[in-house]
Amino acid sequence: MIFVSSDKHIFSFGPDLEPVAYAKPGDIICFETLDCFAGQLTSEIQSIANIDLTRANPATGPVFIEGAEPGDTLKIEILDIRVSKTGVVVALPGFGLLGDKLRDERIRICRIEDGFVYFTVKDSSRPVKIRLPYKPMVGVIGVAYSKKVPSTIPGVHGGNMDTKLITRGTAVYLPVFKEGGLLAVGDVHAVMADGEMCATGCEVSGEVVVRVDVIKGCSVQWPIIEAEDAIYIIVSKESLEEAFYEASNAAARAISCSLSLEFEDAYMIAGLIVDLQVSQVVNVVKTVRARIPKEFASITQILEALNNR
Ligand code: CA
Ligand code: CA
Repeated sequence: MIFVSSDKHIFSFGPDLEPVAYAKPGDIICFETLDCFAGQLTSEIQSIANIDLTRANPATGPVFIEGAEPGDTLKIEILDIRVSKTGVVVALPGFGLLGDKLRDERIRICRIEDGFVYFTVKDSSRPVKIRLPYKPMVGVIGVAYSKKVPSTIPGVHGGNMDTKLITRGTAVYLPVFKEGGLLAVGDVHAVMADGEMCATGCEVSGEVVVRVDVIKGCSVQWPIIEAEDAIYIIVSKESLEEAFYEASNAAARAISCSLSLEFEDAYMIAGLIVDLQVSQVVNVVKTVRARIPKEFASITQILEALNNR
């Protein structure tokens, strides 16, 4: 197994990345990851104003995958996610969907134990401890893009997609833009809901174990997630409306291709079976997904339908 330590990280998926490790198709890689604040928040009495937010959302890597060339697709199977014993959740005025309603900033350090996440309020007249499900997921997974990108914002190259389905047992497909792909992973959450409305999940450091493979001669138009029962097309755009438009278009085309239907019929079928879902609504760019049940399209058919080459 190839181990990439968290001191090797990036803050942007631009075209000038330099690899910190090398892997071959079929190799297993363990990415040790920092949390989204690069470990700067460790106590509830810290001030968020005092941390360096230019160090937000680091991704460990990048790893050069041998044989991956522009026009190919990387397949990344998530084999395991391990997280730290505590995670951090933040409310910050101006931050998240309801940032205008907040009077104060607040930090909660959650304990993660026995398969649960504990959200604890001690500094109140009525202390409470709320048990939440532990559902670890990867917020940032991406490859070097052909153009300059600010930070790890999401796009066709992956990035900060904050999609809770990127978890153990699923596979992520990303188009390759630069030689070697240059894969980086970070921003693990112990639990996060669709939308991520407060702008953080339960932010943790951790380890993400993946197996990488290269699909030659196929360049997917958008990131794709393959889960047990369905395939998801992940689209990030400036507005939710634009994102849903692109996701719908891609899903209808995929169905047209897999069921050999004209676009009009595929569109109608899509209206009956494709669920449009929100991944995150709080980054500069919003992320949505179209869910296609596997009984209507296989991963091979979807890769073929969305092949940009
Ligand atoms: Ca994130
Ligand atoms: Ca995060």
